Amino acid sequence: MVQNYILSVADLLQKEIGTQRTYQVSLSRLDIDQEVLLKTPVEGTVTLVKVEEGKLLGSFHLNLVVELECARCLKRFNLPLRLNYTDEFSIQNPESENQITPQNTIDLLPSITQEIILALPLKPICQTTCQGIKIGAKNVYPKTKKISGPSRHTKGSSGN
Ligand SMILES: [Zn+2]
Repeated sequence: MVQNYILSVADLLQKEIGTQRTYQVSLSRLDIDQEVLLKTPVEGTVTLVKVEEGKLLGSFHLNLVVELECARCLKRFNLPLRLNYTDEFSIQNPESENQITPQNTIDLLPSITQEIILALPLKPICQTTCQGIKIGAKNVYPKTKKISGPSRHTKGSSGN
């Protein structure tokens, strides 16, 4: 089960434009690719500012550690990620996942999930010096004998 991260913003929406609130974020489960394992909860803060009537701007400051598989050596390793970004939440755009619901709540999960996906490297490498998979055998390239078929280099041509 994916845990949603619902905040009630009814109170903030009634305040003057410019009012802000900071909320603690701690998320232990995410719905990302199974290749990506969350090693530590997503921890940090989001500060919501009322920028217009019915519109909030969120400033996210989050830390987490994910476990990924190295694209070179296939070992799993931990990658710390730091997310600092902003996202908008609005009563408009009902199709948007960052919608303020009629119950005056917002769900932070889609925004955070999206940002983590963007922060993940396309080709995760455990360390820059990663040599890739080590092959034990020395003869990686087996010596291939030149296949010389029955010599047709007979001197002179027969016939005559
Ligand atoms: Zn590696």
